[in-house]
Amino acid sequence: MKSLFAAAATLMLTGPAHAELPFVKERAEWSVPQKPFHVIGNIYYVGMAGVSAFLIVTPAGNILTDGGLPESAPFIEKNIQALGFKLSDVKILLNSHVHFDHSGGLARLKADTGAKFYASTGDKPFLESGHIPYGPSSLIDTTPIHVDRAMKDGESFTLGGVTMTANVLPGHTRGCTTWTRPLTDAGVTHKVMFFCSISVAGNPIAGKLAYPTIVSDYRASFARLKKMDADIFLAPHGGQFHMEEKLAKMKPGAPNPFIDAKELPDMVQKAEAAFDKDLARQQAGGAAYVPR
Ligand SMILES: [Zn+2]
Repeated sequence: MKSLFAAAATLMLTGPAHAELPFVKERAEWSVPQKPFHVIGNIYYVGMAGVSAFLIVTPAGNILTDGGLPESAPFIEKNIQALGFKLSDVKILLNSHVHFDHSGGLARLKADTGAKFYASTGDKPFLESGHIPYGPSSLIDTTPIHVDRAMKDGESFTLGGVTMTANVLPGHTRGCTTWTRPLTDAGVTHKVMFFCSISVAGNPIAGKLAYPTIVSDYRASFARLKKMDADIFLAPHGGQFHMEEKLAKMKPGAPNPFIDAKELPDMVQKAEAAFDKDLARQQAGGAAYVPR
């Protein structure tokens, strides 16, 4: 945390100093434009190469999950339009979690589409203030966005025959929301998961904590994820669901590579091992956030 406070102090003294902010290298990689594409059924990918946004098209209007970085919003809008859909047809905006790389573009997307914004009760205060008080993202504020409907764990909504359920799995953020829905394609019903995240990602998890229950929250979320299943696993960063590799395998007549029931259990196993390793490192005095 010391280095974060030092970075904040530097910012206050000298104004924005780009190199002092967290995730500088990652941010450039996440911002590479991505051609939008059809995933499966009524789901389309409209995000950047490194931060996701998914469009779900229904006869009653469309649902958009995540807004990318603040600078991603115009690209997401262009991607929606490039697929032939109207911005004004986006009726509901969702968020996986309140980190600048997934919620940063939402305020502009809400203004430009006129959509209602649904988010978890746990992340609502931070979305509405534009500031999260813990983790490296605390140094990067976003435009505040009004939450029109605060969703609790297990609550669902339906639009145009699509029912989305909020599974609040805290840890990565307090209100980290994994959205799930059934989808029938070519006569087969799938379980789709729009995963939030469960990585440590620089969150302080040892010592004096601004989010005191963070470790037990992560543990409970790992336990719940082990009991969940999904055969279409989609996530907020392309690398988390092997988007590039799967996209390369998309061929007419070939099985849809986005159908893969192993992705979720593999991810949970790897993420839990990484969490244990990071916890031991932080307990031994290692800094929570280590720039790449
Ligand atoms: Zn995050």
